[in-house]
This record gives sequence, structure tokens and C-alpha cells, in this order.
Amino acid sequence: MSDLCDIAVIGLEVMGRNLALNIESRGYKVAVYNRTTEKMEKFIEGPAKGKRIVGCRTLEELVKALARPRKVMMMVKAGPAVDDLIEQLIPLLEPGDILIDGGNTHFADTERRTQYVESKGLLYIGTGVSGGEEGALKGPSLMPGGSEKAWPFVKPIFQAIAAKVGPNKDIPCCDWVGPRGAGHYVKMVHNGIEYGDMQLIAEAYWLLKHALGASNDELYDIFDQWNRGELNSYLIEITRDIFSVIDKETGQYLVDLILDKAGAKGTGKWMSQDALDLGIPSTLVTEAVHARNLSALKSERVRAAEILHGPRGGRYEGDRRAFIEEIRQALYASKIVSYAQGFVQLREAAKEYKWPLNFGSIAMLWRGGCIIRAVFLERIKEAFDENPQLENLLLAPYFRQAVEKAQSAWRHVVTVAVQLGIPIPAFATALTYYDGYRSAVLPANLIQAQRDYFGAHTYERIDKPGQGPFHTDWLSER
Ligand code: NAP
Repeated sequence: MSDLCDIAVIGLEVMGRNLALNIESRGYKVAVYNRTTEKMEKFIEGPAKGKRIVGCRTLEELVKALARPRKVMMMVKAGPAVDDLIEQLIPLLEPGDILIDGGNTHFADTERRTQYVESKGLLYIGTGVSGGEEGALKGPSLMPGGSEKAWPFVKPIFQAIAAKVGPNKDIPCCDWVGPRGAGHYVKMVHNGIEYGDMQLIAEAYWLLKHALGASNDELYDIFDQWNRGELNSYLIEITRDIFSVIDKETGQYLVDLILDKAGAKGTGKWMSQDALDLGIPSTLVTEAVHARNLSALKSERVRAAEILHGPRGGRYEGDRRAFIEEIRQALYASKIVSYAQGFVQLREAAKEYKWPLNFGSIAMLWRGGCIIRAVFLERIKEAFDENPQLENLLLAPYFRQAVEKAQSAWRHVVTVAVQLGIPIPAFATALTYYDGYRSAVLPANLIQAQRDYFGAHTYERIDKPGQGPFHTDWLSER
């Protein structure tokens, strides 16, 4: 056996450290480097002690420690740090060596870097890594894209460390996604869907708490129950658990002590921004980002609450048990819309950026290891297996029937929330998307008339298809 290392990890913050440990635990020898050397030394003396992990003080040392083709994985702060490292590494590497970025990088940077690194005779992979620090250590979901020629060399390591699903726990949540920035794009959509899921769950919680007055104990039971059915997922499971945690200092439920200001690192915003660029309605993620932004206006909301009046504090008067079930159904239907939008965005991105994406396989990458892992993703895979050209998940028989079944509950829940003045932006936008998408005719005829009136933007006519565009001098026609 060669004494050289199989792969290098650069960046020994929590993600890099855990990935290095995970890779080593699968039988590989790992070289590690960190810009600040003390961090490397602490790692080598601490969690890496006794393991086949080699600490390197310089990039030169790191490169020399590697078997060819060299595989160098950067787990550093996304942004200019990655460009800096690429510039430092290029002169040290040889043709065919592979640079990998496992950070939360914007896909456009990975598009650019793949082309740049390839122009230098090297290979490049930009990979989504999901599952946080625990995933990195025990089995993340990995979404690699970039230079396809690099994949056969990286595949055994990546598939060994990834989360496994399936009846025999042997299907890795890691497969090749596509060229250039495709892997980071899929990670971005994963994160955007995560924003939607979290917002929907938060709205269900708020309805249960305020429309029904559910206690935290009861919320625990409800989410526990929901986790046993079609909503079964990591996020529902951790939500359940959150309702059971007591703050040791005060003896109160911790969730009730947490300030209602949601933070964000920006990947939801990226998905929403690209949806706007592609001209497609990814309303769930956008609404979820806005909901976090609205939550962040805490002091302004506190002032507005004194001034702006509307229904507040009212309770739902109907059958409590039935309403809990209706909220569950509304959550499920809204979730289906959210995933439908995510996959529409992937389809449009595949066209725009020229990536041959396999949507069923992407759904399976998220089946384990990551934050949105859920049994539900298998239904998505089945829908794309049945029809790889599927325009929208809502049109697949399973999802069409699921929404059909949940529809009256969904409408009732949205109506009750509106009447009680309980904000449910994601539930409502999911329903309006559904109603818009199933409308053969929309009022955009009036918008076209207005645009033509004030800006001579022209319009098409339904009675003269293909003969336009038409323009009218609206003032003289009055
Ligand atoms: P981080 O806090 O994002 O980054 C810190 C690491 O980057 C340190 O090792 C730091 O080195 C290094 N670094 C920063 N600028 C550098 C430069 N110019 N040159 C060389 N190294 C530089 O670390 P992290 O939380 O472990 O995350 C790593 C990447 O994974 C990020 O892109 C992050 O977004 C992504 N990610 C994180 C999670 C998570 O749950 N944390 C999940 C998925 C993906 P020094 O020690 O010398 O400062």
C-alpha cells in the first residue's frame, strides 16, 4: 500500500474536520491543511490522533503528500477564499489533478471556476454538502457537479462517506449531478426547499397554538403523530423534539424563550433570485425568505402591533380534532406545491444553463443525510421514473390525487387563518399558486391592455392567434 494520502481536506473548521474524520473512517488516508496552523495542530493532536490523518503546514507539503491524480477538497468560507486557494494551488498541481469545493458556493462561481480550472489542465468539482456538522461526520448528502472526467476518481470516496438509504441501507445519497455549477445549484434548491418546509411547519405550529390553544405537550404529540404518516421527515421529527425541551435555568419550555427573529445565510435568497432571473414562479421559497425578513423587523412589529388593528386572539370554534387533521392536510398539500416549484426551477435551470439533470436521481440524493430528508422524496422519484418529461409534480397522478384529497381542508385552514388574523404566508401562497396553475385563463389580458395603453407594449389576440403583435391607440378608441 502506498504511503501517500488518498485525498486532502483544506479548511479545518467544523465541516472540514468532520469530513476528514468521516473519510478516514471509511479506510482512506487523509492529508489536512488549515491556513491558521494551530487549528491543524489542535485537530491532529485531538480528534485525529491515532488516525490515518496527516497534518500539513504548507500547501506544498499537502500536495506532496497526495497520490495521483491528486484530490484536494476545499472546505473553507465560500467566496474569495476559494479563488485565493485555487490561485495558490494551480501552480502546485499537475494535469489531471482534481480540485473540489465543498463549501456553500453560489453556482455561478462554480460555473466560472470549473471553466477556469479546466483551462489550466486540471479538473474541478463543486459539490453541495448537506446535513450540517453531524452529516459531515456520519454521512452527508453530497451533490457533486463539475468536470465529469473527475467523477470516477472521486466517486468511491464520496459514495463511501455519504448517507445510505434503502431497505439494506446501501444506496448512497450521492451521485453525479451534472456539469460545472449543477451540483451547487441542486444544493441551493435543496436549501430553498428547506426554507419552504421550515416556514410551512412554523405556520402549522402557529395555527395549532393560536387558533386551537395547543400546549407544548400537545404540540409534541401532534408532531409525533404527523411524523408517523405521509409527513414523516427529519424536520417534523426535530420539531416534535423541540416542544419537549425545558430550559434548565427557568424551568420553562425553551422554544417559548427564543426571540422570534429568524436568521438566514442567503441560500434561500439565491434560489429566489435565480427564479426571478429564470422568470419562473418559485413563490414558496420567496415567501419563506420574506417571512424571515418580516420576522427580523421585531421592534417595528412591536410598535405596529399597538397601532394596527385587526382580528387577534380569537379561537377556532369548530371541532378541534378535525381542525388538527385539516392543518396536517394543508401542510402536506402546501409541501407538495413547494417541491413542485423546486423541481420546476431545476428543470428551467437545466435548460438555461445546459445541464442534463436527472430529477428522479436528485430526489434520491435528498432521501438521507440532509435537512429535507423525507420518505416523500421516493414518491417524487417514482413520478419522474414514470415520466422523465414531467412538467410539474402537481400533474403526476400520486401528487394530483394527494392535493385533491387535501384540497377542501387546505382551503378551510387558509380561510380560518385569514378570519382569525393569523399570518400564514406560505400556506396561502401555495394555495394561490395551485389555483393560478390550474387556471386555463388568468386576468393577464387586462395587464397586457394596460401595458399597451401606457407603453405601447403590444398584445396578442385570442381570436387572431399568430397574427400579432397588435397595438391600439387606447385614447382615440374611447
Ligand atoms: P467556515 O466558518 O465557513 O470557514 C472557516 C474556514 O475557512 C477556516 O478553516 C478558515 O481558515 C478558512 N478560510 C477562510 N478564509 C480563507 C482563505 N482566504 N484561505 C484559506 N482558508 C480560509 O467553516 P465551516 O462552517 O466548516 O464551513 C465550511 C464550508 O462548508 C463553508 O462554505 C460553509 O458554508 C459550508 N457548509 C457549512 C455547513 C455547516 O453546517 N457549517 C453545512 C454545509 C456547508 P482559518 O482557520 O485560517 O481562518
